[in-house]
Amino acid sequence: MDDAQISGDLSRVLFTKDQIAKRIAELAAEIDTDYEGKELLLVGVLNGAVMVMGDLSRALKSHCQMDWMAISSYGSGTQSSGVVRILKDLNTDISGMHVLVVEDIIDTGLTLSYLVGNLMSRNPASLKIMTAFRKPDAAKNAVDVAYVGFDIPNDFVVGYGLDYNGRYRNLTSVATLAPHVYS
Ligand code: 5GP
Ligand code: MG
Ligand code: MG
Repeated sequence: MDDAQISGDLSRVLFTKDQIAKRIAELAAEIDTDYEGKELLLVGVLNGAVMVMGDLSRALKSHCQMDWMAISSYGSGTQSSGVVRILKDLNTDISGMHVLVVEDIIDTGLTLSYLVGNLMSRNPASLKIMTAFRKPDAAKNAVDVAYVGFDIPNDFVVGYGLDYNGRYRNLTSVATLAPHVYS
Protein backbone atom coordinates (compact mmCIF):
# COMPACT_ATOMS: atom_id res chain seq x y z
CA MET A 1 0.00 0.00 0.00
CA ASP A 2 1.03 3.57 -0.71
CA ASP A 3 1.08 6.38 1.88
CA ALA A 4 -1.54 8.32 -0.11
CA GLN A 5 -3.96 5.40 0.35
CA ILE A 6 -3.75 5.47 4.15
CA SER A 7 -2.76 9.10 4.73
CA GLY A 8 -5.38 9.35 7.51
CA ASP A 9 -3.38 6.81 9.56
CA LEU A 10 -0.07 8.59 9.15
CA SER A 11 1.43 11.54 10.95
CA ARG A 12 4.59 12.12 8.88
CA VAL A 13 6.21 10.33 5.95
CA LEU A 14 9.94 10.20 6.66
CA PHE A 15 11.03 8.48 3.43
CA THR A 16 9.14 7.75 0.24
CA LYS A 17 9.37 4.55 -1.77
CA ASP A 18 11.64 6.30 -4.30
CA GLN A 19 13.97 7.73 -1.65
CA ILE A 20 14.34 4.30 -0.07
CA ALA A 21 14.97 2.61 -3.43
CA LYS A 22 17.66 5.17 -4.30
CA ARG A 23 19.46 4.71 -0.97
CA ILE A 24 19.31 0.90 -1.13
CA ALA A 25 20.79 1.03 -4.64
CA GLU A 26 23.67 3.20 -3.33
CA LEU A 27 24.39 0.72 -0.55
CA ALA A 28 24.19 -2.21 -2.98
CA ALA A 29 26.84 -0.54 -5.16
CA GLU A 30 29.10 -0.11 -2.10
CA ILE A 31 28.54 -3.73 -1.11
CA ASP A 32 29.30 -4.95 -4.65
CA THR A 33 32.63 -3.09 -4.49
CA ASP A 34 33.51 -4.21 -0.96
CA TYR A 35 32.84 -7.90 -1.69
CA GLU A 36 34.29 -8.09 -5.18
CA GLY A 37 35.43 -11.64 -5.89
CA LYS A 38 33.67 -13.02 -2.79
CA GLU A 39 30.31 -14.72 -2.57
CA LEU A 40 28.05 -13.19 0.05
CA LEU A 41 25.48 -14.87 2.28
CA LEU A 42 22.76 -12.38 3.20
CA VAL A 43 21.13 -13.26 6.52
CA GLY A 44 17.73 -11.60 6.88
CA VAL A 45 16.19 -11.18 10.30
CA LEU A 46 12.50 -12.02 10.12
CA ASN A 47 9.96 -10.55 9.83
CA GLY A 48 10.95 -6.92 9.47
CA ALA A 49 13.87 -7.38 7.07
CA VAL A 50 11.80 -9.02 4.33
CA MET A 51 11.44 -5.84 2.25
CA VAL A 52 15.03 -4.59 2.57
CA MET A 53 16.34 -8.11 1.89
CA GLY A 54 14.30 -8.32 -1.31
CA ASP A 55 15.37 -4.89 -2.51
CA LEU A 56 19.04 -5.10 -1.51
CA SER A 57 19.54 -8.57 -2.98
CA ARG A 58 18.02 -7.56 -6.32
CA ALA A 59 20.06 -4.34 -6.44
CA LEU A 60 23.34 -6.30 -6.12
CA LYS A 61 25.18 -7.01 -9.36
CA SER A 62 27.04 -10.03 -7.96
CA HIS A 63 25.78 -13.44 -6.85
CA CYS A 64 24.59 -13.86 -3.30
CA GLN A 65 22.93 -16.53 -1.20
CA MET A 66 20.12 -15.78 1.21
CA ASP A 67 19.03 -17.31 4.48
CA TRP A 68 16.78 -16.24 7.34
CA MET A 69 16.66 -16.18 11.11
CA ALA A 70 13.78 -15.39 13.42
CA ILE A 71 14.53 -14.20 16.92
CA SER A 72 12.44 -12.93 19.77
CA SER A 73 13.84 -10.55 22.32
CA TYR A 74 12.63 -10.54 25.89
CA GLY A 75 12.31 -7.22 27.59
CA SER A 76 10.33 -5.40 30.21
CA GLY A 77 7.63 -3.48 28.37
CA THR A 78 8.86 -1.77 25.22
CA GLN A 79 12.57 -1.80 26.09
CA SER A 80 14.49 -4.70 24.60
CA SER A 81 16.76 -6.47 27.09
CA GLY A 82 19.26 -8.19 24.83
CA VAL A 83 18.04 -11.57 26.09
CA VAL A 84 17.20 -13.28 22.85
CA ARG A 85 15.69 -16.60 21.82
CA ILE A 86 16.19 -18.11 18.37
CA LEU A 87 12.78 -19.04 16.94
CA LYS A 88 14.13 -20.10 13.55
CA ASP A 89 17.80 -20.78 12.95
CA LEU A 90 19.74 -20.63 9.68
CA ASN A 91 19.60 -23.60 7.31
CA THR A 92 23.15 -22.74 6.21
CA ASP A 93 26.43 -23.66 7.91
CA ILE A 94 28.10 -20.23 7.82
CA SER A 95 31.57 -21.43 8.74
CA GLY A 96 34.02 -19.94 6.22
CA MET A 97 31.33 -17.79 4.58
CA HIS A 98 31.14 -14.03 4.11
CA VAL A 99 28.00 -13.11 6.05
CA LEU A 100 26.09 -9.85 5.83
CA VAL A 101 23.27 -9.56 8.38
CA VAL A 102 20.37 -7.57 6.94
CA GLU A 103 18.23 -5.74 9.50
CA ASP A 104 15.14 -3.57 9.29
CA ILE A 105 15.95 -1.18 12.12
CA ILE A 106 18.40 -0.87 14.99
CA ASP A 107 17.11 0.84 18.10
CA THR A 108 19.18 -0.05 21.18
CA GLY A 109 21.20 -2.59 19.21
CA LEU A 110 20.81 -5.14 22.02
CA THR A 111 19.11 -7.72 19.79
CA LEU A 112 21.81 -7.27 17.19
CA SER A 113 24.63 -7.55 19.66
CA TYR A 114 23.33 -10.96 20.80
CA LEU A 115 22.96 -12.05 17.19
CA VAL A 116 26.49 -10.99 16.27
CA GLY A 117 27.94 -12.93 19.23
CA ASN A 118 25.94 -15.99 18.26
CA LEU A 119 26.93 -15.87 14.58
CA MET A 120 30.62 -15.14 15.32
CA SER A 121 30.80 -18.36 17.35
CA ARG A 122 30.06 -20.24 14.10
CA ASN A 123 33.33 -19.02 12.56
CA PRO A 124 32.25 -17.15 9.41
CA ALA A 125 35.04 -15.85 7.14
CA SER A 126 33.63 -12.37 7.82
CA LEU A 127 30.55 -10.83 9.40
CA LYS A 128 29.12 -7.38 8.73
CA ILE A 129 25.82 -5.64 9.39
CA MET A 130 23.51 -3.73 7.09
CA THR A 131 20.40 -1.96 8.37
CA ALA A 132 17.73 0.01 6.56
CA PHE A 133 17.16 2.36 9.53
CA ARG A 134 19.04 3.23 12.69
CA LYS A 135 17.99 5.20 15.77
CA PRO A 136 20.25 7.40 17.95
CA ASP A 137 20.38 4.96 20.92
CA ALA A 138 22.29 2.48 18.73
CA ALA A 139 25.39 4.64 19.30
CA LYS A 140 25.47 3.46 22.94
CA ASN A 141 26.12 -0.08 21.73
CA ALA A 142 29.50 -1.36 20.60
CA VAL A 143 28.28 -3.22 17.51
CA ASP A 144 29.76 -1.74 14.35
CA VAL A 145 27.20 -1.32 11.56
CA ALA A 146 28.91 -1.22 8.18
CA TYR A 147 25.96 -0.11 6.02
CA VAL A 148 23.15 2.19 7.19
CA GLY A 149 20.27 3.23 4.97
CA PHE A 150 19.04 6.15 7.05
CA ASP A 151 19.71 7.50 10.53
CA ILE A 152 16.33 8.50 11.95
CA PRO A 153 15.06 10.28 15.07
CA ASN A 154 13.90 8.39 18.13
CA ASP A 155 10.28 7.98 16.94
CA PHE A 156 8.29 4.80 16.34
CA VAL A 157 8.07 4.23 12.60
CA VAL A 158 6.17 1.79 10.39
CA GLY A 159 6.34 0.66 6.79
CA TYR A 160 8.92 -1.03 4.56
CA GLY A 161 8.69 -4.19 6.69
CA LEU A 162 8.16 -2.47 10.04
CA ASP A 163 4.87 -3.14 11.83
CA TYR A 164 2.59 -1.78 14.48
CA ASN A 165 0.52 -4.63 15.94
CA GLY A 166 1.23 -6.69 12.84
CA ARG A 167 0.07 -4.03 10.39
CA TYR A 168 1.74 -1.55 8.02
CA ARG A 169 4.60 -3.85 6.96
CA ASN A 170 3.35 -3.57 3.36
CA LEU A 171 3.44 0.23 3.35
CA THR A 172 5.94 1.24 0.64
CA SER A 173 7.17 4.34 2.50
CA VAL A 174 8.34 4.77 6.10
CA ALA A 175 6.20 6.95 8.34
CA THR A 176 5.13 7.79 11.87
CA LEU A 177 1.55 6.96 12.83
CA ALA A 178 -1.19 9.42 13.72
CA PRO A 179 -2.09 9.42 17.44
CA HIS A 180 -5.60 8.02 16.80
CA VAL A 181 -4.11 4.73 15.51
CA TYR A 182 -2.67 4.01 18.98
CA SER A 183 -5.93 4.57 20.84
P1 5GP B 1 16.78 -3.21 19.53
O1 5GP B 1 17.26 -4.49 20.17
O2 5GP B 1 17.77 -2.65 18.54
O3 5GP B 1 16.40 -2.19 20.56
O4 5GP B 1 15.42 -3.57 18.83
C1 5GP B 1 15.27 -3.68 17.45
C2 5GP B 1 13.91 -4.23 17.11
O5 5GP B 1 12.87 -3.45 17.74
C3 5GP B 1 13.61 -4.13 15.62
O6 5GP B 1 14.02 -5.28 14.92
C4 5GP B 1 12.11 -3.91 15.59
O7 5GP B 1 11.44 -5.15 15.63
C5 5GP B 1 11.81 -3.16 16.87
N1 5GP B 1 11.76 -1.70 16.65
C6 5GP B 1 12.62 -0.77 17.10
N2 5GP B 1 12.25 0.47 16.73
C7 5GP B 1 11.13 0.32 15.97
C8 5GP B 1 10.28 1.24 15.26
O8 5GP B 1 10.45 2.47 15.24
N3 5GP B 1 9.21 0.70 14.61
C9 5GP B 1 8.95 -0.64 14.59
N4 5GP B 1 7.89 -1.05 13.91
N5 5GP B 1 9.74 -1.54 15.24
C10 5GP B 1 10.81 -1.06 15.92
MG1 MG C 1 14.91 -6.45 13.20
MG1 MG D 1 7.66 -5.50 15.39
